[in-house]
Amino acid sequence: MDTVGNIDIAGNIQKNNSIKNELNSCDCKKDINKLVEKLSLFNKMYNLVRVVDPVKKRVYECKEDNFCELDSYCYQFWKQDKICDNCISMRAYRDNDTFIKIEYVKEKVFIVTAVPVNLGDKIVIVELLKDVTSSMVVGDDVVQGSNEIYSIINNLNQIAIKDSLTELFNRRYINERLPVDILNSVIMNKPISIIMADLDHFKSVNDKYGHVNGDMVLKAFAETLTGSVRKGKDWVARYGGEEFLICLPETDTNTAAEIAERMRNSIQNKTFIYEGKRFRITASFGICTFSGNACITIEDFIESADKKLYDAKKEGRNRVKF
Ligand code: GH3
Ligand code: MG
Ligand code: MG
Repeated sequence: MDTVGNIDIAGNIQKNNSIKNELNSCDCKKDINKLVEKLSLFNKMYNLVRVVDPVKKRVYECKEDNFCELDSYCYQFWKQDKICDNCISMRAYRDNDTFIKIEYVKEKVFIVTAVPVNLGDKIVIVELLKDVTSSMVVGDDVVQGSNEIYSIINNLNQIAIKDSLTELFNRRYINERLPVDILNSVIMNKPISIIMADLDHFKSVNDKYGHVNGDMVLKAFAETLTGSVRKGKDWVARYGGEEFLICLPETDTNTAAEIAERMRNSIQNKTFIYEGKRFRITASFGICTFSGNACITIEDFIESADKKLYDAKKEGRNRVKF
């Protein structure tokens, strides 16, 4: 079974290039027929039933017992020109379990269910979309009410993928988004870099200035990191504790090193005040770049950047290693 946590990007590319053949192979045929039978049942209960590859973000259509890849990306249904933040299909794929969320497009509210289905040794996701607009009393004539509902839905979706202290993305987002960005970089034949950043001697910041001030430092560091990257393209996540992951698609090592250096500089130049006294902090950075010509798992990718971060710590902290 292929899980995204262990995704072999090179292998996956091969699979994605031949996904139609693979899905339409003899081994799969029986499963496809069963799936199509089940889908026709669901068609009566849901407004939209579709099969997606959540890593590739592609939608498949079954025509005369054959799966065809459509030109559209799954997120286009939501009138988004970017990948959905809270992608439950990726979660279903990763955990091999069913997930549900509420989502909206224009004035319609949907309950979305993502169900993993094994076809041969390939997992696809069946997305079941049910229009619940009328049962939630959302409509053009109740604009105030609908805005409120949209805001609740946005909040719910954000809670799932954000860290509450720093408001950065959380570990779940890393697991669900990083494989997609790696795959895109392979498809576009462009490098992708990640930076692992860790505050230096942060334990002593807590010890000297208290946990509340420690939290304040974490928030300031998060803002510094976010302020140093491209909006909409790069993303920053809290990996855990005082360690952060910055993902830079279409970015080579030298550019990533410049960005990390900018981050390092700006955090060391920040001044914090505790009981009238000023203090400063520093951070260490490790970089790994994936150029798309080798096999990589997201765990290996992160571990390589983490090793560089460890080198930066060993060599005296407050530095960038790549
Ligand atoms: P190094 O330079 O080697 O990274 O040393 P360090 O002290 O930063 O590293 P260590 O791993 O020993 O300590 C990390 C500290 O981060 C310990 C933990 O209490 C603190 N920490 C983790 N999460 C939070 C948080 O949410 N808030 C606060 N205030 N502290 C946190
Ligand atoms: Mg630390
Ligand atoms: Mg640490």
